[in-house]
Amino acid sequence: MSSDQTPSHPQNSAPHLLDGIAIAAAIKQEVAAEVADLATRGIRPGLAAVLVGHNPASEIYVRSKVKTCEQLGIFSDLITPPDSVTTAEMLAVVADLNARDDIDGILIQLPLPAHVDTRRLLEAVSPEKDVDGFNPINAGRLQSAGASSTGVQAPLAPCTPAGILEILVRSGLPIAGQNAVVLGRSDIVGKPVAMMLLNASATVTICHSRTVDLASFTRRADLLVAAIGRPGFVTAEMVKPGATLIDVGINRLTDAADVARFFPGDEARAAHFAQRGSTVVGDIHPAAFALAGAYTPVPGGVGALTIAMLMQNTVTAARARRGTTLHSEAVAGQV
Ligand code: NAP
Repeated sequence: MSSDQTPSHPQNSAPHLLDGIAIAAAIKQEVAAEVADLATRGIRPGLAAVLVGHNPASEIYVRSKVKTCEQLGIFSDLITPPDSVTTAEMLAVVADLNARDDIDGILIQLPLPAHVDTRRLLEAVSPEKDVDGFNPINAGRLQSAGASSTGVQAPLAPCTPAGILEILVRSGLPIAGQNAVVLGRSDIVGKPVAMMLLNASATVTICHSRTVDLASFTRRADLLVAAIGRPGFVTAEMVKPGATLIDVGINRLTDAADVARFFPGDEARAAHFAQRGSTVVGDIHPAAFALAGAYTPVPGGVGALTIAMLMQNTVTAARARRGTTLHSEAVAGQV
């Protein structure tokens, strides 16, 4: 039977909402247990966050990363160079963090001001402390990892894609043999998630802005990952009934007409918009979720996982650099 004829899920059951907040909470709990285990050996994982200038969205993201460190017992150091910082000065910051023994993970919040050479900086972060998984060494490790049921395998993999795999695996959704279509080919989402799905033995197609007849690909997808940054781009007509829909897009709506168009009759969303003056929609039109076998909502889906995976990477980096095995691995070794 071809993939077109094989639905991933029963078509007549209600779509299953994949609760990113609950999955992230479970991962954070596991990380906190690992941090407590490291503490018994006198080790406290440390994360340095470099936040340049005053980008309001970046400030919110970094604040919540630092807060999550506090909640889980991870040491954090926030470094805030001004907008005027040069590439040379940023390279010096990174060199200092690479050398510090109390820092296991380094995150450089993107985007950086246009005059700073982002690629050079990401390459300067020690691969052992590259908790965002953006260094080409770690991208290469992900690419050369063998097949595995989780698809992640490389020790420090990019957080958002790794979070997507966690959602799929922890929800017991099939990956191997599935016809997976990824929309978007960015270095931080599209390419790495496609590689992870390939490592997990899906048959993967990557679509982008030059793809001809994109809907002909999405309609055949058992598993569709949308990461393009276009509000509601994937409509109900573009999805295969019963498919798993993973929506990475975070698009802010500030126009009431757009909110009414994407969320007709959704009073809770209208009230949220009236209160805040904005709301977010993903890259998949909310009407398409009704056809899905399972789907990630926006907000409360993929976005919720990113910080949890950053915390997990920080502990992984601490253990690798300071020579300790995972608590769970040690227990398994005693059996
Ligand atoms: P990006 O770097 O701007 O890349 C967008 C990709 O989408 C590009 O590959 C582009 O194709 C493709 N694309 C754009 N318009 C398209 C169209 N009309 N048809 C087909 N493909 C199209 O974006 P990103 O950083 O990967 O982020 C994507 C979305 O995910 C954004 O909404 C972002 O906010 C969100 N995001 C969420 C998280 C999270 O949840 N934590 C993390 C990261 C990103 P070309 O390569 O051909 O230009």
